[in-house]
Amino acid sequence: SVRVRFAPSPTGFVHIGSLRTALYNYLFAKKMGGKYILRVEDTDQSRFVEGAIEGMLESMDWAGIKHDEGVFIDENKNLYQSGEYGPYIQSERLDIYKKYIKELLDKGHAYYCFCSKERLDKVREIQKAEGKIPRYDGFCKGLSEEEVKQKIESGQSYVIRLKLPANTEIKFDDIVRGVVSINTNDLDDQVLMKSDGFPTYHFAVVVDDHLMKITHVIRGEEWLSSTPKHIYLYEAFGWKAPTFVHLPNILNSERKKLSKRHGDVAVEDFKKKGYLPEGLVNYVSLVGWSPEENKEIFSLKELEEVFSLERVSKSGGVFDTDKLNWINQHYIKECDDNVLTDIAIPFLIEAGYISKEDINEKYEWIKDIVSVVKESLQYVKQITDKVNIFFGDTVELENDECREFLKLEHIPTLIDALEQKISQKENIDEQAVKEIFKEIQKEYGIKGKNLFMGTRIILTGQMHGPEIPQVVKILGKETVLNRIKYVKE
Ligand code: GLU
Repeated sequence: SVRVRFAPSPTGFVHIGSLRTALYNYLFAKKMGGKYILRVEDTDQSRFVEGAIEGMLESMDWAGIKHDEGVFIDENKNLYQSGEYGPYIQSERLDIYKKYIKELLDKGHAYYCFCSKERLDKVREIQKAEGKIPRYDGFCKGLSEEEVKQKIESGQSYVIRLKLPANTEIKFDDIVRGVVSINTNDLDDQVLMKSDGFPTYHFAVVVDDHLMKITHVIRGEEWLSSTPKHIYLYEAFGWKAPTFVHLPNILNSERKKLSKRHGDVAVEDFKKKGYLPEGLVNYVSLVGWSPEENKEIFSLKELEEVFSLERVSKSGGVFDTDKLNWINQHYIKECDDNVLTDIAIPFLIEAGYISKEDINEKYEWIKDIVSVVKESLQYVKQITDKVNIFFGDTVELENDECREFLKLEHIPTLIDALEQKISQKENIDEQAVKEIFKEIQKEYGIKGKNLFMGTRIILTGQMHGPEIPQVVKILGKETVLNRIKYVKE
């Protein structure tokens, strides 16, 4: 049965491309009734970032992309592992790699290399000067067993390299790319074990994918050029290679690889702006994959049913913020008001509209505001630009058009009528406001734009916004009267 994995290196944030890789792995496993594994690839200790594993797992949990096996995080932010094929953190598997590198050495598919950095740099420089692609020159390939033993015993530091045969074609059939073929003359004798006793990515990934019984390797296209080396390793071990699926890059609007320099690329960045996980995941699913039906809104559950690797595209998908916003807006509209309010509160606190201490007391009131403005939000952070009208006893006119409008002849009458009628009502819910409007029409003959736009400007200083009855209800009687007084003066 199908087993796939997402194998992030804990080097910092989760790139939106990694989110997509994880998602496609997850979706394929679900679709096929298989298992989805999360393995941490931390063999490059120099790139390790403290807290990166935790952050990555939290991003995945937030996105709702749940794995069946591997490394997990609990509520107290402690890591734990679960599954039959562990450990799932590569730095905890060093003994396993030692065993398998020995097997490769014994079979003659790998060799010790004692070359110093200085020597390697020099070789590289000469090759570059000759216009060649720098590559290890095989200096240590011919060392005898005796020589190797001697050097190791004398304490020389070494790496272990893959011994590639000359002029041999390596081929594999990628689900997205089709048949890929490369000659070993164009490949380097890749380092498999580093001098610090850690495997390189190339070695560890093959050993682990084999031992964890991975059937499909679905990963970013930046790994495509490494795959022939991996294929060769499978052959050297006599193992069956998994099926490979290399996903196209996510590009920016200039069709360059999307990178941190071009703004938001981390899942965390989108979360911090108040994108909903459903929106981000739905959008990302469509960058590089297209459904059969002409439809864009898909819940995770629906994606699990319709996703297929066959419909992953070969060419890079452009990251389109407008489309992301459109999709996210859809999910915000659908979002439960309580959930949305909880997401909105930190933004409102940060913008100084409310304080932490207010929340309990004002929760329902905040929820009313959220429910009134939510239709206009593409991501929740935008709420801070929409709620100004609900705060304070004064009114700021947004433009000259408002100022002109307030000079119209009927405005003083309207102001007085509003003031009088609102004072008389015990409480002003939406129904009460509608009644007041009716009365004013009847008694004073003020109607249409004169009435509705007039009231809106008097109460909010703006020409557009949520329905006036809703606004009045949220403002409350006292604030409304204060504002009317303010405008009068
Ligand atoms: N550790 C690699 C990464 O960080 C995984 C590549 C792979 O999936 O083989 O992207």
